[in-house]
Amino acid sequence: MPLLPLHGHDAVRRRLEDAIRRDSLPASLLLQGPPGIGKQRLALWLGQRLLCTGPEPRPCGQCQHCRYAQAGTHPDIHWYFPRPRLKDSDPSPEDVEDDFREAVGERTRTGVYAPPPPEEAILIATIRAMAHAAALAPALGARKVFVLGDADRLVVRDDSEYAAGAFLKLLEEPPKSANIILTSSEPGSLMPTIRSRLVAIRVPPLGAEAVDAVLGEPAMREAVTAAGVPDRAQERRRLAAGAPGSLLGRAEWADALARAQRMLDAADDHDRKTQMRVALGQGAAKARGAFSTSLDALSSLLHERARAALQRGNPAAARAAARALEDVEQAKERASGNVNPQLITSELLRRLEDQLR
Ligand SMILES: [Zn+2]
Repeated sequence: MPLLPLHGHDAVRRRLEDAIRRDSLPASLLLQGPPGIGKQRLALWLGQRLLCTGPEPRPCGQCQHCRYAQAGTHPDIHWYFPRPRLKDSDPSPEDVEDDFREAVGERTRTGVYAPPPPEEAILIATIRAMAHAAALAPALGARKVFVLGDADRLVVRDDSEYAAGAFLKLLEEPPKSANIILTSSEPGSLMPTIRSRLVAIRVPPLGAEAVDAVLGEPAMREAVTAAGVPDRAQERRRLAAGAPGSLLGRAEWADALARAQRMLDAADDHDRKTQMRVALGQGAAKARGAFSTSLDALSSLLHERARAALQRGNPAAARAAARALEDVEQAKERASGNVNPQLITSELLRRLEDQLR
């Protein structure tokens, strides 16, 4: 089964194509940009482009290399990402490759996958397996391509120094005919010694047309529905905000919806205040991404509430929900800037208290 087709990212693709034509593509790249915009898919596309031997424009989509690449089975495209720790505390490169064959198979079963849970990481064993594979000759093509997704999840625990050392060596002396492509939505969390060895390319969020195309892929549509996001094209486009993959954090989204619902159902002001603090993750050391998801969930429910109130013939309730929705949208805007989530939460609390009474 194939990867999802790559939609959008035209400007970055042109830039990469141009670099390839001028033979100036850096051997070690970092694709950075918000989560869920398709950075790993873009990196895999670049791998396919580099291996394609078909007619121009490349990738042709028809040659043997393209077919393997699109299926996620090209032996010279090595795709790594955060994984749970293996049972064996010191697994061999073969064990690691087996684990990734399975994991990539899982990701390419439908071509759609949720972001890895926070406890999963890129382990020293993965870096070792990568270094091992890099030392071997390509199996089928003229070169080898290594894609390392969510590279900022390189372990920073026990053996991190060791992992970083092995990795730096690989980046410093990349084997001939090898390309290493890292992706990250938090490049600031990459070790400076790693970052300094990479040429960074900023990948912007997708435009509306590309978002619709991604969300219109049957596998994607099904997965987003399974994640509990209402099957309304316009609302999905709005919630995706240029990053359709962000709708796939299943547990995260379902939890956020449940918390927001408890808040809207609160018995009284005091209860609502408590639930809202829970819903927006106040006090917890929450990532900015989780905070946005909570606001998205709240906004989705308020949309529904406004619609339902109108259908019931209760314009006053619909107006209240619409005003609350505006406040949430404003909070979202501020959250995407650099405003502190706690400050946003307490202000939003004050405003919503009146609207939702
Ligand atoms: Zn091809």
